[in-house]
Amino acid sequence: MSELKELTQIFKKNNKENDLGSSLIKKAWEFASVAHQNQKRLSGEEYITHPMKTAIILAEWDMDIETIIAGILHDVPEETEFTISNIKSEFGSEIAKLVEGDTEIGHIKYRGVERYAENLRKMFIAMSRDVRVIIIRFADRIHNLKTLQYHPNPQKRYRIALESLEIYAPIAGRLGMYKIKEQIEDLSFKYVYPLEKKWTIEQLKSQLETRTISLKKIRYKIIDLLEKNDINFIKVYGRKKKLYSLYKKLLRKEKDIYKIYDLIALRIITNTKADCYTILGLIHNNWQPLNGRVKDFISQPKPNGYQSLHTTILNEDHNPIEIQIKTQAMEKVSEFGIAAHWRYKDKKIDINKKEFSWMKDLVKWQQKIKNNKDYLKSIKLNTDIFKSCIFVFTPKNDVIELPERSTPIDFAYHIHTDVGNKCIGVKINNKMSKVNTELKNGDLVEILMDKNRKLPNPDWLNFIRTNTAKEKIKNTVSRARKEKNKNFIKRIKGYIKR
Ligand code: MN
Repeated sequence: MSELKELTQIFKKNNKENDLGSSLIKKAWEFASVAHQNQKRLSGEEYITHPMKTAIILAEWDMDIETIIAGILHDVPEETEFTISNIKSEFGSEIAKLVEGDTEIGHIKYRGVERYAENLRKMFIAMSRDVRVIIIRFADRIHNLKTLQYHPNPQKRYRIALESLEIYAPIAGRLGMYKIKEQIEDLSFKYVYPLEKKWTIEQLKSQLETRTISLKKIRYKIIDLLEKNDINFIKVYGRKKKLYSLYKKLLRKEKDIYKIYDLIALRIITNTKADCYTILGLIHNNWQPLNGRVKDFISQPKPNGYQSLHTTILNEDHNPIEIQIKTQAMEKVSEFGIAAHWRYKDKKIDINKKEFSWMKDLVKWQQKIKNNKDYLKSIKLNTDIFKSCIFVFTPKNDVIELPERSTPIDFAYHIHTDVGNKCIGVKINNKMSKVNTELKNGDLVEILMDKNRKLPNPDWLNFIRTNTAKEKIKNTVSRARKEKNKNFIKRIKGYIKR
C-alpha cells in the first residue's frame, strides 16, 4: 500500500468523515513529493517515504491534522530549495511554525555532557513554544531508527543509536511518553549494546513461560472476583516488560531475574478513580501484598503526570505479579504523556502552571547530570529556571541563558565586555531593533559593533537587567576616568620636566 493511502486510512479511522483533513494530507504529500524529487534515502527508497512514514507514526499516535501535515513537510526547509515562507503560503502559519520549530532544533548531536545540556535547552525552548514540535521529532527519530540498518557506516549507526538512547529516550520518559520512550530504546538497543541485548533475551526466555502461565491464571481469578462483586471494568490485560527497560532493571537488581516483579504486569483499566481503590482493596483482601510494593500514584502522581495504583502480590504458584490499576484516561496518559494531555488543554505549555511542575523536575534532573562532572560544577542552575530565565540564541546557535526581561545590552555583556562596549545596534531575529528591547525566549540575537568605539553609553544603565552588565559598564567607565587622569598627570609631569 502506498504511504499516502495508509496515512489517509489511519487518519480517517481516528477522525471520522474529516474530508478536509484527507485532502490536506494529499496536498502536503504532493508538495513534499515535488520538493524531495530526485532525492533518495540510504535504503534506496524515494526520500518522500521518510516524511510520509513519520506522518503515519504521528497519525497512529492520534495527533491532530496540523501535526501530521508538519510531519509530512518536516524535512522540506532543510533538505530542499523550498522555504518556510513557501510552506506558510501553502499551508498557513500554524503548520509553518511547527515545521520551523523542528528545523530550528536542528541536528541534535551527542557530544559530551556540555553539548547535552545545550541540546536539552533547545528542546525546552521548542517545547515551551509548542510541544507538538518535540512529538514530530520523536516520530522522525523512530523512523530513522527503523531504517538504521541501511546506514553504511557502523560508527554512525552507533552514534545515532546512542544519542537516541541518551537524549531522545530520557526526554520522552520525562514527558511521560512511555510508549514512545520504549520504542526508541528497543530500536536503539542492538546498535549500542548488541551482546547485552542477547543476554537480556536469554534472561527473559528463562522466565517468560512460567510467568505467562501464572499471569493467565490470576487474570481469570481477578476477572471472576470483579464480576462477583459487581464492579465495572473496561479491560484486564498483561503487558510484557520491554527489553531495554528490562536490561536496565536487571543491572539495578544484581542481574537477578527473580527480583524483577514486573516482568509481566497485569493491568486493570476502570471507569472511575473510585473503582481503582475498590479493586485494590478487593485484591488485597484475597492476596497478600508484598511489603513496600504498594504505590499510590493516583493521589500522588509522578512529576510527569503518570497516575496509577501499583501493588505486587504473590500468586498461588509463588510467582510475584505486579498489578497496575488505572482509569482509561490515566492509561492514555501513561502511554502518551503530554501528547495525550495537550489535545484537551492548551497547545502551548505554560511551565509556570501547576500541572506542568514536572517541567521543573526536568531541570532538576538536568542539574543532576551536570553535577556529575567536575568541570561543570561551577555552573549553578536555578531550579526555577523557567520562571526567571529566558534562553536566546547567538548567530552561531549557542544558547545563552539570561534573566527575564533582559535586553540586547545584557546579552552583549554576557558574551564579552568588549562586545558590550563596542555595541552600536542589534538585530533580533534578523530585524534591526532597539538596544532596549526586551528579549523573548528563543530570540536570535546579533550584536552590531563598531571596532573604534571604546566607551559604553551611560544611558544603558537605565534599562539593563543584569548585574554583570551593570558592573562591566561601571568598571569600564571608571577605568577610563582613571586612565584619563593618568594621562593628564603624565602630561603635566612631562610639562613640568620640560
Ligand atoms: Mn527527517
